[in-house]
Amino acid sequence: MPAPTIVWFRDDLRVADHPALAAAAERRAPVVCVFVLDEESAGIRPLGGAARWWLHGSLEALRADLEALGTTLVLRRGAAGRVIRSLVDETGADAVFWNRRYGGPERDLDTELKTALADDGLEVRSFGANLLFEPWTIRTGQGTPYSVFTPFWRACLAAPEPRHPLPAPERLAFADPGDRSGRADVATDDLASWHLLPTRPDWAAGLRETWAPGSAAAHDRLEAFLDERLGDYDVDRDRPAIDATSRLSPHLRWGEISPFEVWNAVRERRTTDPRGETTSRGRFLAELGWREFAWHVLFHAPDLATRNWRAEFDVFPWPRLHPSALQAWEQGRTGVPLVDAGMRELWRTGTMHNRVRMVTASFLTKNLLIDWRRGEQWFWDTLVDADAASNPFNWQWVAGSGADAAPYFRVFNPLLQATKFDRDGAYVRRWVPEVDSEEYPEPIVDLGESREAALAAYRVVRGARAEG
Ligand code: FAD
Repeated sequence: MPAPTIVWFRDDLRVADHPALAAAAERRAPVVCVFVLDEESAGIRPLGGAARWWLHGSLEALRADLEALGTTLVLRRGAAGRVIRSLVDETGADAVFWNRRYGGPERDLDTELKTALADDGLEVRSFGANLLFEPWTIRTGQGTPYSVFTPFWRACLAAPEPRHPLPAPERLAFADPGDRSGRADVATDDLASWHLLPTRPDWAAGLRETWAPGSAAAHDRLEAFLDERLGDYDVDRDRPAIDATSRLSPHLRWGEISPFEVWNAVRERRTTDPRGETTSRGRFLAELGWREFAWHVLFHAPDLATRNWRAEFDVFPWPRLHPSALQAWEQGRTGVPLVDAGMRELWRTGTMHNRVRMVTASFLTKNLLIDWRRGEQWFWDTLVDADAASNPFNWQWVAGSGADAAPYFRVFNPLLQATKFDRDGAYVRRWVPEVDSEEYPEPIVDLGESREAALAAYRVVRGARAEG
């Protein structure tokens, strides 16, 4: 009996277009599929509450998909390097395969483990699966990383086209991997023992109503989007009251669907769609491009969630925090309707429309003058798509401290934004039904005055830049 191959699942909770799993299946040896809940290794950011909720559902779905292929999912908790090495000892595996991660601490951990396992004589292979373009392949003419999206995306589009997705293996049941070590089974944790789901209080009712984690749901969403909404995406994507976008972000975050699957499905519609939706298609692919850009930026600046990408923002004079203002923002009680609607949508459903994410983030950083890191952390805890790159990248983009960022002096006016993108007020009324009643509070800040205060604070950054 050949020795088993371990496939370590991380941000790629799917069986199709999974290069590590496909390569393991080709070895025609037993395959041990494992997911490690790592809350111990240095630098790995602990998951937020909404992400933990999603992960539970996603692991259940992955286990079912693997069982359909004749194997199962082994769950282990602990420092990932130690856990994988102990699984190698238990199973007698002679190979460990995984798909690459791009965060700094994750890369350090993977590199160290790869070296240690290879020194022990194991075959260790890593694959590109979660980004369309590997970060080190897209470079300016000078060999530096791009810091502006448009030339970055142009360079991506000029690079070799992303590959076609791989099919799921037909079967993985080459033998019981426990056979080699004389065990009936490889021990696994009980998922319930990880307590990923909230209990008291159970705040996840709105998440359950809104989402179905797992690859099958991700593919259904993609198909429905391509059939019903892609054509008008360019026109409608900024209107939060209507369901105009793909809502694929949490599925992409956990890798239940790969960007290659999405990319190719969209490209294939080009030949079959009679409406000739070139603009919408291009726009949608460019949104996938923003996801790529965020990851490329994080790859080169691993501390993106804690440090200003533009160092001159380090002198920004954030005033002393008013906890009550932060709390009013978190709870959707600022008295500014579009902001409150977004924050309540987030709390209830674990997501928020992109346009409203920009408005709420601008309001926090520029009208309330609260450090972007506070907002980033709240989104990290409450978003089902909370992503180690996209979240800090976009927060810094709005705050003005990030790559290709909106200039600091562009302060979104939430009232004008509502007039423009929620003209009939349907989105605001859905989430703030009391908006026109006396119950609804006055704004906690004067929008005009706070904007002026923000611009005055920004002059400190400009001054520092001029001096530097
Ligand atoms: P679609 O419009 O259908 O876009 C398709 C896909 O492209 C998305 O699923 C997503 O993967 C990607 N995408 C779209 N816009 C962006 C963007 N601006 N940056 C990066 N990728 C993008 N997105 C996350 O996935 N995780 C986050 O933690 C996150 N935090 C954000 C925080 C702030 C302050 C802001 C302004 C934006 C944030 N975004 C984040 C980006 C964006 O809001 C969401 O990706 C989008 O709303 C998801 O909805 P959708 O899947 O329907 O998007």
